[in-house]
Amino acid sequence: MSTTDDETPFDAYREDVDRPLWRLFREYAPGRLGWFSVGMVANFVARMASLVPPLLLGVAIDALFTEPDSAAFELPLVPDAWLPTEQLDQFWFTIVAIAVAFVLVAVFTWIYGVAANLFAHDVMHTVRVDSFRKMQRLDMSFFDEKQTGEVMAVLNNDTQNLERFLDNAVMNSARLVVMVGGIAAVLCYLNWQLAVVTLVAVPAMVLFTLWFMRVAEPRYVRQRSAVARLNTRLENAIAGMGLTKATSSEDHELDRVRESSLNLFRRTMDVLKLSYLYRPGMELLAGIAFAATFLVGGLWLTTDTAPGPLTGTLSVGDFVVFLMLTQRIVDPLAEVSNIVDQYENAKASSERIFGLMDIPVHVDDPDDPADLEPVEGHVAYENVTFSYADSEVRATAHETETAFDETVIEDVSFEAEPGETVALVGPTGAGKSTLVKLLLRLYDVQEGSVRIDGHDVRDVSLSELRSSVGYVSQDTFLFDGTIADNVRYGQFDASDEAVREAAKAAQAHEFVTELPDGYETRVGERGVKLSGGQRQRIAIARAVLADPDVLLLDEATSAVDTKTEALIQESIDRLTEGRTTLAIAHRLSTIKNADEILVLEDGRVVERGTHEELLDDGGRYATLWNAQAGTVDEALDALADGGQ
Ligand code: ATP
Repeated sequence: MSTTDDETPFDAYREDVDRPLWRLFREYAPGRLGWFSVGMVANFVARMASLVPPLLLGVAIDALFTEPDSAAFELPLVPDAWLPTEQLDQFWFTIVAIAVAFVLVAVFTWIYGVAANLFAHDVMHTVRVDSFRKMQRLDMSFFDEKQTGEVMAVLNNDTQNLERFLDNAVMNSARLVVMVGGIAAVLCYLNWQLAVVTLVAVPAMVLFTLWFMRVAEPRYVRQRSAVARLNTRLENAIAGMGLTKATSSEDHELDRVRESSLNLFRRTMDVLKLSYLYRPGMELLAGIAFAATFLVGGLWLTTDTAPGPLTGTLSVGDFVVFLMLTQRIVDPLAEVSNIVDQYENAKASSERIFGLMDIPVHVDDPDDPADLEPVEGHVAYENVTFSYADSEVRATAHETETAFDETVIEDVSFEAEPGETVALVGPTGAGKSTLVKLLLRLYDVQEGSVRIDGHDVRDVSLSELRSSVGYVSQDTFLFDGTIADNVRYGQFDASDEAVREAAKAAQAHEFVTELPDGYETRVGERGVKLSGGQRQRIAIARAVLADPDVLLLDEATSAVDTKTEALIQESIDRLTEGRTTLAIAHRLSTIKNADEILVLEDGRVVERGTHEELLDDGGRYATLWNAQAGTVDEALDALADGGQ
């Protein structure tokens, strides 16, 4: 499906999620039913205990104060034999029982709070970790759609919404049912006819709530999407702050953030406008119930006859209990609006969470993986064809409108014997990086196959494949942490000595030791405190330490000066020695010793051979070599302009 203005690409995934909140309970509650039940029971006891004081008060008013001679001192569910017979004893009994009831309310409310919180937070912790685990398994094509902010919204805001729902809404609705049920039972016990007058508002409130939920739901969904959009926008704006400053584009960025924020504001107002109608509506209905009770009960007492079709008598004590409990019904019912609010939010959020969890993973482990170890390092590409558009469609299982619908790699075949180096050169966008990513299975080929030691990469386990293949990518990513942590990334058990040796081999040791804290220097977010060349050498050191069987070098020396390049080249030569290597380079001098050089153009191999052979052929490569001054890109562009 194509996405509309209000939808983020991410929304496509949530459509197929069936009854998400029920699923949340089914999948996550079973292991935690203990806390859930303790919370429910404590809630029930606390609510029931809170009904005791008004009830006792009503009995005491009649039996002790207004009608001491005619009214009996009786309590529902309590045998008369347990109750004192003397008036003074009854008075003291009432006081003590009310005090005990308040203590019970306090103790059980505390137990309920702790149990409900433990239940809700534990569920959320697990949901958060599970969604992150799932997110890590998603295909690269998912992340190409740049949904970091979206995913962050799921992991943060959405799980928080669920937590609020589990913590507050679930327990509050239980409280509501217990309160309304308990109060209705007490009122009916005292005077069922007046109870009918009081409780007639309850079905009206239920109907009003159902109407609200139906109308509000789509608005909540749109509000959640607006939150996610704003997150994405902010995430992008913060990541690109350097570019924004350098190009004086603050106003432009501000406008974009303002627009997303305004969109969220509008969507939130759509929701709130309804809530504004709903909350007072509920309070009005509750107020009508109170006024009706007061009117009918008051008339009954003042005229001393049952009004209208009603029959029987009403005591002052019962009337007071009615008024107190009617007031008690109002509070929890008025809270329904909060519960509905949290419910709708949680429903939208859990749809998104399960939407994420249900995204099909295509680049996954095979059912019965072949054994790759020990790796000899024979790499073969056989008639490989690939396009990003196809991989996106497969990854999302939804049609996605994309600008990238052309074939990026077309019918490419080559082989690297163990220990050989195959170099890939060609103009920018020719498909060189894509080609090496296929070996790592960051994407799967659509036609043909990529093989290591005769095994199709799709037939071996991802972890075995990726631990045998080292990748020094075009953009060197460093985690915020120390230099040692970054060199060690992936080989977490490596000793300090091994880290130092790897850094020496990558020509990084010298600059690292000159830093104030040496290997313990923190590199800052994404390594911003290091220069491009330094970052690259750390990445090479990481590869040296990993000691992979097959090495992928993507323009590993592009960000350094000529002197450093010579140093790095030396370390790379050492690193690639005896190791199968696919090397992408823009400077031909770095790959002239390669066993085979492939010249790629528009995803096709247009020339192949050794450096000498290609020079002898006098084709594109030779022209480029002779044009030594510039990079391959510039030379190729020049060639294209020159009508070659
Ligand atoms: P350079 O030398 O500039 O790094 P390259 O030869 O490595 O270029 P690739 O990065 O493989 O080229 O890109 C090949 C083509 O695939 C380009 O047209 C590019 O726009 C497209 N492409 C690259 N990555 C993606 C992606 N993640 N999703 C969609 N299209 C992509």
